[in-house]
Amino acid sequence: MAGELEAALTRVADSGWYLLGPELEEFEREYAAYCGTRHCVGVASGLDALELTLRAAGIGPGDEVIVPAYTWVATWLAVSAVGATPVGVDVEESTYNLDPTAAEAAIGARTAAIVPVHLRGEPADMDAIDSVARQRGLLVVEDAAQAHGARHRGRRTGGLGDAAIFSFYPAKNLGALGDAGAVTTDDEELAGKLRLLRNYGMRNRYEIESAGVNSRLAEIQAAVLRAKLPWLDGWNAARSGHAEAYREAFAEQPAIGVPRTPQWADPVWHLFIITHPDRDACRESLAGRGIESLVHYPQLPHMSGAYPEGTWRGGPFPVAERLAATSLSLPLYPQLAADRRDAVAAAVLATLSEAAAGAA
Ligand SMILES: *Cc1c(COP(=O)(O)O)cnc(C)c1O
Repeated sequence: MAGELEAALTRVADSGWYLLGPELEEFEREYAAYCGTRHCVGVASGLDALELTLRAAGIGPGDEVIVPAYTWVATWLAVSAVGATPVGVDVEESTYNLDPTAAEAAIGARTAAIVPVHLRGEPADMDAIDSVARQRGLLVVEDAAQAHGARHRGRRTGGLGDAAIFSFYPAKNLGALGDAGAVTTDDEELAGKLRLLRNYGMRNRYEIESAGVNSRLAEIQAAVLRAKLPWLDGWNAARSGHAEAYREAFAEQPAIGVPRTPQWADPVWHLFIITHPDRDACRESLAGRGIESLVHYPQLPHMSGAYPEGTWRGGPFPVAERLAATSLSLPLYPQLAADRRDAVAAAVLATLSEAAAGAA
């Protein structure tokens, strides 16, 4: 991998072509093929990918977009950025993903789109979501920023709705050496609009067709992503191995909540999130053993400074808010050593006996 990365970096540095060149074209072709879509359009970040997709689809002021309450704030910010209103919907207790029944109940006269998030790398219930959206004529944009390579009934994320957005932020399952993102879609017109929008709205050097932005996926990042893409499935398999081991370790412990994987889902485990009765004490105890845990996400979008009253709709979100208060993410990455992972699981289990001893 290191050799391939270095070769990619040198190739671009020596080429003298740094934006919208052959590396991006090849990456777009390769990533579209990987996702099983006709088109891929590279942009500067996952947030831009979602914002530009909504804009290209004509969504704007007066429109509402249904989003899960339990997600990274970017999902909501893209909706607000085009002038539309995010309508939050609670997530399923079992999968932490958008609840299709709640999404259907949130549809109103102004609803224009649904953005399901494949959180943690686990596909959302796309059959139910697509069917609701089709009946109501709504656009479906997958937020697949955490789900590169995940499958739903054997089909990869990226091709399960009208369009999908990916982030190649360095820590994602497929990461660049900096910011990058992409949109995948079978819709040729949408892809064409995105190609204009990402480059100032330029049809050609001397003609600006519409008001666009500067959101380009740099050649150097495209080359890095091309070097890494052949490794993605192997990395995802390593992640799945760790997830299975964690799941087994906690199987007999009802106090530890572990998300369920529906039988139709092949997740890629961007995150391994559990719930714990005393989350903060657990994290402290882990930290004392030199184990870093994270929380995704203690502050949900609707609780954040970005969303004062009047800027969003929806709720209540009892499941999402419970997850914000009780969940923690355990170390999980492809290079994680098995004995290290087992030590993490043992340390989490030890916090339960500590709590029991403390209570006695
Ligand atoms: C990372 C992420 C994004 C945003 O991607 P950036 O490349 O950081 O802009 C959007 N949605 C979700 C769910 C993410 O995890």
